[in-house]
Amino acid sequence: MTAAYPVNLLGLDRVALEAYVAAMGERAFRAQQIFPWLHQRGVTDFAAMTNIGKALAARLSGEAVVTIPEMASEHLSEDGTRKWVLRLADGNAIETVFIPEALRNTLCISSQVGCALDCAFCATAQQGFNRNLTAAEIVGQVWFAEHRLRAERESPERVISNVVFMGMGEPLLNLKEVGPAIHILLDDLGYGLSRRRVTVSTAGVVPALDRLHEVAPVSLAVSLHAPDDALRDELVPLNKKYPIAELLAACRRYVARDARRRVTFEYAMLAGVNDSTAQARALAQLLRTVPAKVNLIPFNPFPGTSFERSSDAAIDRFRDILLAAGLVAVTRRTRGDSIRAACGQLAGVVKERTRRVVPIHAS
Ligand code: SAH
Repeated sequence: MTAAYPVNLLGLDRVALEAYVAAMGERAFRAQQIFPWLHQRGVTDFAAMTNIGKALAARLSGEAVVTIPEMASEHLSEDGTRKWVLRLADGNAIETVFIPEALRNTLCISSQVGCALDCAFCATAQQGFNRNLTAAEIVGQVWFAEHRLRAERESPERVISNVVFMGMGEPLLNLKEVGPAIHILLDDLGYGLSRRRVTVSTAGVVPALDRLHEVAPVSLAVSLHAPDDALRDELVPLNKKYPIAELLAACRRYVARDARRRVTFEYAMLAGVNDSTAQARALAQLLRTVPAKVNLIPFNPFPGTSFERSSDAAIDRFRDILLAAGLVAVTRRTRGDSIRAACGQLAGVVKERTRRVVPIHAS
């Protein structure tokens, strides 16, 4: 089999890897041998995969690659949060953030170079959009972080316990590549994460929400940010295409078959914009019909923004109204602020940006 360019095996889920080795005339179980070498052991040299046989190793070396994004820089925050700028083969750069906590270690990964959605309060939006990441580039971020941290700790023990698609980009506008990446994260021979420990965050691409459930019913976070369409149209322009009522209906479908499940709604607290007591009551009313948890994110400023963070008092008051209405609501502690690694601060290096005003052309 001769491909026009070498296949990066990091982006093939188990089914695809089985098909790939079958096309080479190999038995499917070879995929089950190769897969853990790649993802669990972090081995990229086929010759070092001792159980696959010399002949197969040689053939793979000739036609496949395992390419990891290269580290361009590393930034360590005093709270332990780490941000890596990773360079891709085409010169673009994306950002990946590691957030250690007492009971879990979360990796926040990017799904696109830049973003086309143009949310008013997000730094990534200012970068414009260049392209989708491939599944290999998405998994490559996890591979890079996991194996770098293990090497640093001089321990073979697994480091990353949770992965969130909350970095640059809109994952549900790249489900074609995000889908296989999720399969690899969940695979027992891959990263072995449970579906509750993988979270996809979306600004609300309604048709793709149903498709995500079919790929794998991972945890869902929805960037809401406003309790009514008029304000949300301004903050998250995608709302003009998929307004709140449709979005919440899709959320209800997403969790319908699972009694213990909730959708996390993210709400960036913007002073004087969406943080009044009336808006808190409207939000509580809105979310009455969805199994919900609300994450209040104190707005993280970035150069050039005119938004300001709500005061702590305003955030507490807002949260208390939600709690009194019976909702689950927490304030997300800001992490990595000092290294521009916090929510909405990821910028990367986006070449040849396009700015798409209408992000989706066909539906
Ligand atoms: N496109 C996806 C993934 C990005 S997740 C989405 O919209 O969900 C990043 C989260 O941080 C989103 O909830 C986003 O709305 C939020 N966010 C963006 N800019 C922010 C900022 N400046 N301060 C705080 N949160 C922000």
